[in-house]
Amino acid sequence: MYIRVSEIPGGGINVFASRGRASIPRVLEGMDPSPLRECRLVDAELLLTVEDRDVVAEGSFEAVGEGVCDRCSEPVTLRFGKAFHTILTPKDRDRVSAASVELHEDDLDVGYYDGTGLETNDILWEQVALDLPVNVVCSEACSGLCPVCGKNRNREACSCTPVETPGPFEILKNLKGKKE
Ligand SMILES: [Zn+2]
Ligand SMILES: [Zn+2]
Repeated sequence: MYIRVSEIPGGGINVFASRGRASIPRVLEGMDPSPLRECRLVDAELLLTVEDRDVVAEGSFEAVGEGVCDRCSEPVTLRFGKAFHTILTPKDRDRVSAASVELHEDDLDVGYYDGTGLETNDILWEQVALDLPVNVVCSEACSGLCPVCGKNRNREACSCTPVETPGPFEILKNLKGKKE
């Protein structure tokens, strides 16, 4: 939803309370959630207030994502979310006003808007993007697929001889050895 800054009332606007919470699952439509395959919001809060011309965006989200495990290729469902607190300042201004910095010094996270208004989906997209996992694993203990026979080693053991892969220290030792 596009909100003009001039339309935000003095007490701020609670975006999903005024717009209807039914829109929440569609907020991330069109977003690239990689490395996940799909991602949608299950809950969100977003309060926008104006201080001088800076827009303070406070809120939280809870998202559910679907992906596949990097190690064993099994489907993975991830639930993640966080609270956020961002100041959006007009692009035509170099710096956030001194008043805002003083008020929010502790957790200052600054973005920009065009000076006229903001797309609320963009605010949530950015927050979700910052929180997306770098790697998708079904579990930290996932043993992955056997590189020899391809069996899922979480489910069944195989009798393949493990292929020796040199560790980083071994590689370093060999390089040193060659130089000397
Ligand atoms: Zn796995
Ligand atoms: Zn095997």
